[in-house]
Amino acid sequence: MREAKETVLEINLGNLAHNYRFLRSKIGKDVKFLSVVKAHAYGSDSVEIAKKLEELGTDYFAVAYVEEGIRLRENGIIKPILVLHPQFTHFEEIIENCLEPNLYSEKTLRSFISTAERLNQKNYPVHIKLNTGLNRLGFDKAEISMVQELISNTPSIKISSVFSHLAASEDWQEREFTLDQIDLFRKMTWQLIENLGYEPLLHICNTSGVINYPKATFSMVRTGIGLYGYGNDKTVDPQLKPVGTLKTIISQIRKLEEGATVGYNRAHKINKPSHIATLPIGHADGINRIYGKQKAGVFVKGKYAPIVGNVCMDIIMIDVTGIDCEEGDEVIIFGGPHQHPVDFAQAGGTISYELITGIQRRVTRKIIPE
Ligand SMILES: *Cc1c(COP(=O)(O)O)cnc(C)c1O
Repeated sequence: MREAKETVLEINLGNLAHNYRFLRSKIGKDVKFLSVVKAHAYGSDSVEIAKKLEELGTDYFAVAYVEEGIRLRENGIIKPILVLHPQFTHFEEIIENCLEPNLYSEKTLRSFISTAERLNQKNYPVHIKLNTGLNRLGFDKAEISMVQELISNTPSIKISSVFSHLAASEDWQEREFTLDQIDLFRKMTWQLIENLGYEPLLHICNTSGVINYPKATFSMVRTGIGLYGYGNDKTVDPQLKPVGTLKTIISQIRKLEEGATVGYNRAHKINKPSHIATLPIGHADGINRIYGKQKAGVFVKGKYAPIVGNVCMDIIMIDVTGIDCEEGDEVIIFGGPHQHPVDFAQAGGTISYELITGIQRRVTRKIIPE
């Protein structure tokens, strides 16, 4: 029989529902809600998360790549799915799976139109991305008339939405830049949709946009990190609930005397009698070497235990001296009342996004229903 206790990432759907309702409460009743479920729903489980969000009433989904969208369709997700970063080699698959492409360049626009025409599509829903200063994907202002012309010359596609992405919505120092982006988005959009004859959805706000620029929600918002429990802000974070909790167990405890060393390269030196515990999780699971050498720690019985020595591929050693614990006891890497994942990420010099999307698929995902 499989051990009941092991390294697991618990996915709490009740927390997801809480976060969804919180973010919904921040936007107008008629503003649509797009849930970003790319990268396995930020490292959790895109199918389970999308099913729950569909039940909660999300209007739209977004994924980064085509395969992610196909996976959702294969698992019965029916709401529209925007593919944020498609390649033109996947346009047929997009249409076959009822996915909606982000068209962000002349090449993608022309290529999608010709695919849609070849497959006899009428009014196939597409999304037009505008570059307002992030300088990543999207059409520049000077390209708008070209976009208009290509679109007015074909009945094969219809613009479902026009959107852009903010570069620093979480950063108050960059407020002026952000307001300029929003302003430019408004101007470019007017120009683009002026003679269209119908009104596409408009959206520019991600999670921090919703929180910091509530007047710029337009007709839809795109939230990712907030759904998973992170507000990119010390005052917002306590109002959200992290969806993921990463847990493991103690495999072995060893008592060491002064002079002993722990782990590869003898990176940890013992200078007083210590209890060192071994955990079945390592850098191959997404807990990178940066967290070693006491940069970060974990919680055992509600007490802090620093990670000592180098993080190995499948093993981490922690110092549990003075903590009343034994082999088999639960260890919280992040989540729960003691260790906010943001604090753990910060200890490793990174951000919540990278920490949670970096937990490898080797770690079992355990769904906790609402
Ligand atoms: C990932 C992504 C989002 C979600 O941003 P959050 O900060 O996680 O809310 C929104 N829009 C685009 C284009 C994205 O790539």
